[in-house]
Amino acid sequence: MTLLILVFGTLFLCNYANGDDFGYDGDHGPQHWGDSYKTCLGKYQSPIDIEDKDVRTTSYPPLKFFNVQDPHPAYMSNNGHTVMIRSTDQDPVNVPMVQGGPLNDTYVFQQLHFHWGKSDDEGSEDLINNHSFSMELHAVFWKKSYESSDEALKHPDGLTVLAFLYQATNESNPNFDTIVSQISEIATVGSNVTIGDADILNKLIAPNAMASQDYYTYSGSLTTPPCLEIVQWIDFIQPQTISHDQVHRQLAVFRSIKAPDGENLTHNYRPVQPLDDRIIFRNINNGSAETSKPAEVTDAPTTMQATNVPTTASTPKPMNPPTPKPTDPPTPKPTDPPTPKPTNPPTTAKPMTVAPQEATNDTMKSDKEDSQHSGQGRIWSTSTLVLVFGLSFLLPYQ
Ligand SMILES: [Zn+2]
Repeated sequence: MTLLILVFGTLFLCNYANGDDFGYDGDHGPQHWGDSYKTCLGKYQSPIDIEDKDVRTTSYPPLKFFNVQDPHPAYMSNNGHTVMIRSTDQDPVNVPMVQGGPLNDTYVFQQLHFHWGKSDDEGSEDLINNHSFSMELHAVFWKKSYESSDEALKHPDGLTVLAFLYQATNESNPNFDTIVSQISEIATVGSNVTIGDADILNKLIAPNAMASQDYYTYSGSLTTPPCLEIVQWIDFIQPQTISHDQVHRQLAVFRSIKAPDGENLTHNYRPVQPLDDRIIFRNINNGSAETSKPAEVTDAPTTMQATNVPTTASTPKPMNPPTPKPTDPPTPKPTDPPTPKPTNPPTTAKPMTVAPQEATNDTMKSDKEDSQHSGQGRIWSTSTLVLVFGLSFLLPYQ
């Protein structure tokens, strides 16, 4: 009974705290999110249009991945807003992590999910020079020193999201074979399935060594309610590919899952938001990053604002200050045809040497299945998972 109360109570609170009553059309559409979630009206919202004129090149320390290439049992679910993939790793030591680049700490993998559009010429959330890609994958990580994803949500540097842009082509991307073959099993809202590919996280979130250092980064928000401005975005410039043809229909199957209203979830991307006075940085991997001195404060990335954080957030720590290189060549040509990269070679990830996070035995703590951008660091036990999914059918938008 205690477990029931804890889980149900947590779900209730999470529904309230994370914004579940939203959609992408009509009265629930992005234009109305601010009615219910004032934080969605903030100054530093995401997504944005990344335009050359707003980009400054710089050199960050290398962005490093840990544990990503290891096998990770995972499951895929339909939460009414997206297709979400989570690991079921029981040992927190093995959870994928990322550090370096613009990040000032280690960040722990929470989940990944997708945004797509009605047609192949739309779907990504961030745009590059007003170009929309066909799909965007978001891999959400929370700051390890906050010890839990729930706590991380309360801090302006609580999350980082790795964004991978996908362009539809005629070529099948084998990394999606398993997902595509199983997606019909999560057609209904609240359903989930174990993914029959323990290498799925490696395939989806481990860009090759060179591409992983070529990215834009800026400070922004969750792209779903409550739109908290707590995210350091890292957008990899090299687009990935996914097929749209009628044989493989990799992208098309995403549009076939159901939304809470019973209709197909044909699109789930938020329109771009004003950049305002933010600066977008593009990392230039010129080999000098590790010996370069920190830049002047004025050249550091815009630190995230605490005004919309609903709790007594700590003073934000600046992200790793970049070395300004204002005379560097301009930004890339993102409208170039994407280079197919059907297989993601493993990164140079090394085993983590840091201490295990605190959640080792904490399998009964909170979770939020429904908010794709919100934190959730606790590892579920199987029984909890089954119970919550059972309860989730009783709740709207689960
Ligand atoms: Zn997202």
